[in-house]
Formats: sequence, C-alpha cells, structure tokens
Amino acid sequence: MIQLIRGFKDILPGESELWQYIEKTAVDLFQSFRYNEIRIPIMEKTALFARSIGETTDIVEKEMYTLEDRKKDLLTLRPEATASIVRSYIQHKMYATDPVQKFYMIGPMFRRERPQKGRYRQFYQIDAEIFGVASPLADVELIVLLNTLMERLNVTDVEVHVNSLGCPECRPAYKEALTTLLNGVSDKLCANCVRRKDKNPLRVLDCKVPACQDAMEDPPALIDHLCDACSDHFNTVTGWLDRLKIPYTVNKRLVRGLDYYTRTAFEIQTGALGAQSAVAGGGRYDGLVSALGGPDQPAIGFAIGFDRLAEIVGQSDADYRKPLPLFIAALGATARDKAFDWCLSLGRLGIGCEMEYAEKSLKSQMKKANRLNAQSVLIVGDAEIENGEAVLRNMASKTQQSVPLENLIENVAKAINERS
Ligand code: ATP
Ligand code: MG
Repeated sequence: MIQLIRGFKDILPGESELWQYIEKTAVDLFQSFRYNEIRIPIMEKTALFARSIGETTDIVEKEMYTLEDRKKDLLTLRPEATASIVRSYIQHKMYATDPVQKFYMIGPMFRRERPQKGRYRQFYQIDAEIFGVASPLADVELIVLLNTLMERLNVTDVEVHVNSLGCPECRPAYKEALTTLLNGVSDKLCANCVRRKDKNPLRVLDCKVPACQDAMEDPPALIDHLCDACSDHFNTVTGWLDRLKIPYTVNKRLVRGLDYYTRTAFEIQTGALGAQSAVAGGGRYDGLVSALGGPDQPAIGFAIGFDRLAEIVGQSDADYRKPLPLFIAALGATARDKAFDWCLSLGRLGIGCEMEYAEKSLKSQMKKANRLNAQSVLIVGDAEIENGEAVLRNMASKTQQSVPLENLIENVAKAINERS
C-alpha cells in the first residue's frame, strides 16, 4: 500500500471540524479588523524566496522543495507567505490605489525539515500583513490581533515575546560587536553557528543547541544599541502593550529566521507544546518591498503555525463539533423512501439530517443515531405511515412526542428551531 510522504499528514474528519472552527474564528476576526483575503499560488520562482528570505537562512539553504520544470525553470513550493504577498502587492501595483493594504491568507507551506511533533514538511499558516504603515501602531495592532485570537480560542498558556532587530542604521555596528564576541567563543559553538556567525550572527542568538546558549550566557542586546528612531519605535510598541494591559516579555534573543526583518520582532510562545514552543511569529520588514523592486513602502506581518494552534485548541474542551439535528430511523422500504425525501428537503433547508440507507433493525439505527450524536430521532415504519403520525424522540431528555406526517418538514423544522 502506498503511504503518504514523510512529514506530510492527513487532516481527517473529526479533526477537520477543529480546523474549521479555528479558521472561522480567525477569519471573523480578520474581517472585523478589515483585513482582506489574498490567495497566492503554491509555487513561485525560486529566486523570489531566495532573494526575500535570504540566501543564508535555514529555509533557503536546506529546506526548500525546489524542482525544475520542463523548461528548466527553477520553481519552489512556498515555504512561507510573505514573499508571495509582497510580489503580488508590487506586481498588481496595489500601492497605487492606496499604499496601505491589509491582507490575510490561510494555507499550506512546505519546508523540508526533520519531521517531529509540531514540525511537518507540509504545514499550515494563518498569515496577516499590513503594508504602507511605518507607524508602530501597525505593530501594536498585529500583536493585539494575535492576542485576541488566542483569547477567542481560549488559549491561555501563551506569552507575547518582543524584541527589536534595529535597522540598517544601527544593526551593522551591533552585528560586528556580536561577531567579535562569537569569534572569542567559537570553539564552544555548534558547527552550524560557526558557519553562520560571520554571515548571519543574529541567528546564533536563538540557536537551540544548549552549548551555544551557554557560550553566550549574557549576549549584548540589540535593544541596547538601537538608534534613536528604532528606540522610539520600540518604546511606543511596548508603551501601547502596557496601556492595553497585554503582558509581554522583552526577549533579547528573539530573532526571526528570515533576513528581511527590521525593528519589531514578536513571537507567541506557549508552554503547551513541549519543544516547539512558538505558535506564531512575526515582525516588521520595512526594506523588503523595495528590495523586490517595489516602491519604498514599509510592511509588517505575522504567521501563526496552524498545526500547533490546532494541537493546543484540541487539548482544550472547546466545543466545536456541530451536532446532528435529526436522524431518521426508517423501517421498511416505503418508510425509507419517505425518509430519503425528508432528508433531502431538510438538507435543502439547511437542517442536517441523516438516515440509514440499508435495511437495518431499529436497535442498530438507534445505535448509529447515538454515535452520530443526533439531537432528535424521527422513528417511522409502515404502521406510522398508515396512521399518518411518527415518533420524534429528543435524545437528550429521552422524551418522545408524536408528530403528524402532514407538513412533517415544517413541523420538524419548527421543533428543531425551537430547541436551538
Ligand atoms: P521554528 O523556530 O519553530 O522553526 P520559524 O521561525 O521557522 O519557527 P516562522 O517561519 O516564523 O517559524 O513561521 C511561523 C510559525 O509557523 C512558527 O511559529 C510555527 O508555529 C509554524 N511553523 C514553522 N515551521 C513549521 C513546521 N515545519 N511545522 C509546523 N509548524 C511550523
Ligand atoms: Mg524553522
């Protein structure tokens, strides 16, 4: 039997209801905050990701699913959404109508990482971006949005981490200081960090290898080396978080895996997931739009790890399963045909109804109704059809009432609506 690809997964019925519930909660929130959905392709030219994410990042160095198409063009399955959204913003000159645009998108991403709990090769992200706003208010808005989504999903074991990555003005001096420090302890660093300490030293700060963490017990913090503009920006963000009473931690080791970030970086961390503790990550990338050939417009965004969020929400007792309003237990061919007619009519009215398609005993049909969590069961056999009355059983209260078959749909619809 052919099995699915390692690191990929199916989201089965039972779990998909949870995913729909999260997705609906997120979409409702985005719509109230006036974010518009953007749908981007699943593949792009490799150069787009290489250029925007950065040649020395883990993603571009070793995690991309890249293939050559028949014309020898290099194409890559998207490892994240921002690059494509920026490309789209530029390509369709969306900035010409109004540089300020807010987007959200939900969909699969692909990274060839080592599969483990909370880490897949096809995983899903819920993504939001604001273009054209240089003000720190945009940063605050996105953090509030994330925080509100967690609240609505009853995810309580979360912490907002924030940091500033500075800008091309203040970061180089800091990078240099950090590289000097790293050169001094390079014999203690992992091979990966030794390699990236010259090219991308900030990445060493959040290396998960304990030896690297120990090597720099108290690394110099970029927030202590910010230029005045970056410092003001950061203070405004944290000032607003204080004012809104959103608890946060300034995490000096927080950097993003992607090169294009500037100033605010943030993450939502949780204790509920074990090793993969980041549920969402985001930050400002003021230089990316122009770097990809667009106008000089600032931008900021975040990506939520949908799989990880589903894992947490799935552990809670959130009730997202839609109950089945009605099951029709039919006995005999005539009753079954009637039942089928009624099921179709109720379905068309938007009332969920199920039945048994084969000849089965009443006991077996009641068992099925129970398993499907039916709120009511309509029991109808040839005798009931003869008498023009069937039995409607309320499965919660275990009470029964007799309902006339004439105008059955209206009567049942009324009974169900009264109950809900
Ligand atoms: P991590 O440090 O966990 O590798 P990252 O910095 O690579 O995260 P981002 O690129 O910022 O992650 O993506 C945002 C979110 O997407 C992460 O916080 C995480 O929840 C989720 N995510 C990233 N990679 C994976 C993956 N391979 N499988 C499942 N979720 C993922
Ligand atoms: Mg990663």
